[in-house]
Amino acid sequence: MGLNVVMMGPPGAGKGTQAERLARERGLLKISTGDILRDASRDQTPAAIVAKARMDRGELVDDETMIAIVRDRLMRPDAEVGVVLDGFPRTVVQAEALDRILEERDNGPLVVIDVVVPEQELVRRLAGRRICSNCGTTAAPGDMVANCTRCGNVMVQRTDDNQDVVLERLKVYQHTTRPVLEYYRSRVTFRVVNGAQAPDRVAHELNTLIDDAVAVAVPLKAASEGSL
Ligand SMILES: [Zn+2]
Repeated sequence: MGLNVVMMGPPGAGKGTQAERLARERGLLKISTGDILRDASRDQTPAAIVAKARMDRGELVDDETMIAIVRDRLMRPDAEVGVVLDGFPRTVVQAEALDRILEERDNGPLVVIDVVVPEQELVRRLAGRRICSNCGTTAAPGDMVANCTRCGNVMVQRTDDNQDVVLERLKVYQHTTRPVLEYYRSRVTFRVVNGAQAPDRVAHELNTLIDDAVAVAVPLKAASEGSL
């Protein structure tokens, strides 16, 4: 039986790092929105072509297109083991579609993780991030790498004057994500992890929470199927 995990959390919470680690440790396929869109524009599926055109115009990819792309990805054989989703769903419409896709796939429970970090700590992490002086690639919070992993140029410390930008980004995140969190919050497989801890502690807590959620979800599903 597979396992599917949605990782939610604001920028700077470290959810990308945790998603990657979780996928590696459990042998799941990690799917991030960025990866999907990059792959999709290479794959040249109809939805991918629409997405690419929108991104090229600097527009957001609409729900319908995003759902089609994620659906294509989830239906491929390598996703059968289960997935860790990072950056999807972003809207309630996407979350509802994901439920339908997973039901159709019928491959293990969906566990939703919200990585929570106090705003003050997020600002500290994000405003202190190092950024490439050439291409603008940002390092992970706390990563003191000297050269850009993409183009090799010098990484510099961002200045404090971007605190307002960081706060605005966090506000936008909270505003757009709240409905999705509310959509999931009442589920028995919804869990909150304290992302303010050291990454190893977060990973440990995350594993415990997921095991716990699976232990609750699997008997429930078996019972509901038995009663049909
Ligand atoms: Zn660079």
